[in-house]
Amino acid sequence: MIIAMLMAVLSAAPALQAPPAPIALSPGTQYDSRIPTLAQVVGHDYGEAISTPEQIVAYFKALEAASSGRLTLVEYGRSYEGRPLCVALIGDPKWVSPAGLERLRAALGALADPRTAATDQDLLVRTRVPVVVWMLHSVHGNEISSSEAAMAEAYHLLAAQGDPKVEAVLRDAVVMIDPLQNPDGRARFIASNQQGSGPQPNSEPASIEHDEPWPGGRPNHYLFDMNRDWLALSQAETRARVRFGLQYPAHIVADLHEMGGDATYFFAPPAEPANPYITPRQQDWLRAIGKENARRFDARGFAFFAREVFDSFYPGYGDSWPMFNGAVAMTFEQASPRGLVFRRDDDTLLTYREAVVHHVTAALSTIETAAANRDAILRDYRDYRRSAIADGEKAAVREYLVPPGIDPSRTRAFGDKLTEHGIEVRRLEDPVKAGTRMLPAGTLAISAAQPSFRLLRNLMEPDIKMDEKFIKEQERRRQKRLGDQIYDVTAWSLPLLFDVEVVPSATPVAGRAVRLSASGGVPPPTPPTPPALPPAKAAYLLPWGSQTAAAVAGAVRAGVRVHTGGEPFTIGTRTFDVGTAIVRVAENPPEALSRLAAILARHPVEVVPLDSTWVDEGMSLGSMQVALVKSPKVLLVWDRPAQSDSAGWARYVIEQRFGLPVTVVRAGTLRRLDLGRYNVLVLPSGSYGGTIGDDDLRRLRDWISGGGVLVTLADASRWASGEKVGLLATATLMRDGQPAGVEKDAKKPAAADPAKPFDYEKTIQPDAELPESVPGAVMRVALDREHWLAAGLDDEIQAVVEGTRVFNPIKLDKGRNVGVYAKKDRLVSAGFAWPTSIDLLAQRTFLVDQPLGRGHVIAFAEDPNFRAVSEATELLFINAVLLGTSR
Ligand SMILES: [Zn+2]
Repeated sequence: MIIAMLMAVLSAAPALQAPPAPIALSPGTQYDSRIPTLAQVVGHDYGEAISTPEQIVAYFKALEAASSGRLTLVEYGRSYEGRPLCVALIGDPKWVSPAGLERLRAALGALADPRTAATDQDLLVRTRVPVVVWMLHSVHGNEISSSEAAMAEAYHLLAAQGDPKVEAVLRDAVVMIDPLQNPDGRARFIASNQQGSGPQPNSEPASIEHDEPWPGGRPNHYLFDMNRDWLALSQAETRARVRFGLQYPAHIVADLHEMGGDATYFFAPPAEPANPYITPRQQDWLRAIGKENARRFDARGFAFFAREVFDSFYPGYGDSWPMFNGAVAMTFEQASPRGLVFRRDDDTLLTYREAVVHHVTAALSTIETAAANRDAILRDYRDYRRSAIADGEKAAVREYLVPPGIDPSRTRAFGDKLTEHGIEVRRLEDPVKAGTRMLPAGTLAISAAQPSFRLLRNLMEPDIKMDEKFIKEQERRRQKRLGDQIYDVTAWSLPLLFDVEVVPSATPVAGRAVRLSASGGVPPPTPPTPPALPPAKAAYLLPWGSQTAAAVAGAVRAGVRVHTGGEPFTIGTRTFDVGTAIVRVAENPPEALSRLAAILARHPVEVVPLDSTWVDEGMSLGSMQVALVKSPKVLLVWDRPAQSDSAGWARYVIEQRFGLPVTVVRAGTLRRLDLGRYNVLVLPSGSYGGTIGDDDLRRLRDWISGGGVLVTLADASRWASGEKVGLLATATLMRDGQPAGVEKDAKKPAAADPAKPFDYEKTIQPDAELPESVPGAVMRVALDREHWLAAGLDDEIQAVVEGTRVFNPIKLDKGRNVGVYAKKDRLVSAGFAWPTSIDLLAQRTFLVDQPLGRGHVIAFAEDPNFRAVSEATELLFINAVLLGTSR
């Protein structure tokens, strides 16, 4: 009996189980001993340990040195923490030796642009352009097996001997292996994994080596999910990658990920709904590559699935951007051991080595399929680029025109963003007639007839529709509370998110124009050395906008005295809106003005020189309504319970977009902090109930009353409006429109009325429910332009709305509703929302300014910095941070 119990205890101790013997990368393959193995370079074999970012680079350098010109390592950028981003190009030295790379770029560029003189005969037969396979790994830093597989892929291609499939790859393909898209995230994962590890790896999923602390290794330094950033291109890593992708346009792309440890392996074809701009030929190739992967997985007995989960609707994934440029792109997902060994729910063990081998199997299958089908893939790619131009020529919108508008710097940023995507954008040098309107010089013109037409449509169109059948199915699931299958946001139109106007033209526009440069916009005019302001006797005016906010943030820090107008005013025929920055010459010594000139050379904004401060109408420049912009001393809350993405987006926008310093503190540190040293506190989305107690709330309220500005984002606003917290005099609403926390009268079930039939459907409805979740749509928000928070924006902007938050508007005696959702019939400008959500959100509040003593509580219903994709709401946020302390 005792022995039996002891046996039971022993067999239940998972850490003592020996991991199974390592499985082969590729059974039966003989490898060339002149090519170094991972063990020879870094001391461990594939899957034996989690290679660090430094070891990965070291191994690729060793492979390069031994490759006889068949592998060249290109550093294409750096992460925010300074780690190199590299791609190993593998193939015939004719294409991938350092001298061959230029030839490769030229050939790929000619293939990508059917308008060039090169014929298919030239490219496919005479030049024999290789099929380019771009393998992307570990964009999510804690999806570790992917990078380990990248090294094994390269090793196999260089070292496998007598394998005709590999020989075909080296002859007919160029394989571009990006082993580590997110080195900072991987370093973060490895640190927490090592700190948690014991003498033996522990397989328990709950053990600390698998269980990452906030924020985890998934995101990059600014806590962005970079697999959603291929739309906004906000992060340095993504921008560098897209620059590389435009230099070396690929034909087949795979992005290798990990998913939950209890799953198996996922590959193409993807789940519904498909983006309507994916062509049938691309779908055919996804299926063909998927089937070959399946054949090889079956041959080795590896389980897999396709189609069920990961969709291809949202265009910001790593596999969608290449897709809309004509490549066949796919996502692979391996069950994650999140360490060296992981106990699945069914008590089997998943080892790191197995995960690596699964990825290598899918990767090699894809690479070899591409090489074997070079001619057909390249012809289809060429046809794709050709048909894109033809479709653009036939499109109802033949040319998109974007006039400079209320904030020309924002329009310029919009044009720059499109060129970063590889879209051809012209800036017209003369006014242009569009229908009955005359658009001024400087209007951007974007022709639909270009090889990236389908990407352009995705970026520009307000509404890319999901399949009707799919929507019906979601409605059915919703009724049963099954949860929807919408994987990501359903709207992303860049003109809406930049809040720029698009004037469609049915005909092409001719006339003098400058093509914006592919490296990201028009190069700024060379600043005069040293930069100087135009002469002015009295003052300079800077109309407010995103770039002005950035320039003023810099100027204030550099000791320039800058004021901001609280009301509009007119000088001559020109009216200046609320927020206009005013720099008085008398207040600023010449050194300060030259510092301002240097700052303005970096931020191209309009500067209006004044010899007199006389105003013809409205607020005078010496009015009480004009306030000094104080240098904001910003505190941003980090760590639990803040949501990591919201915290990271806010930090990125403050530091990188607007150049403001910010002190980032853990939520738990707030209580021992001298708040008096700061004047702005940003609370990212999160629920702070367990962290900010009654005493802290009292201190917070005193600090606000004394002039502090509290900015709450999304769920933090929900927390602030809670009855017990009481920082915000508005209420969040439930599904039935009742304020949260209010008990319903009829809690008790009414006695059954024998006269009435029993209503089953009614009886099973929940008593109190959050509003239905908006899966991520773009909605119209009307702004109160008399309020300083709305400075630099027009009457209506667009905001990304997602989740379950609905706020009642604040009463007039308590504060101002600076942003209010539009009426029901025109609320949604793009994307999908349930009719019940639309009913609830219409005319509810989006942005509240609630004065408290000498300070403010400024509450956003949604996250204004969502993925750093929405220029308009980011400006609202920075107005709160930068201008709040002056008001
Ligand atoms: Zn992933």
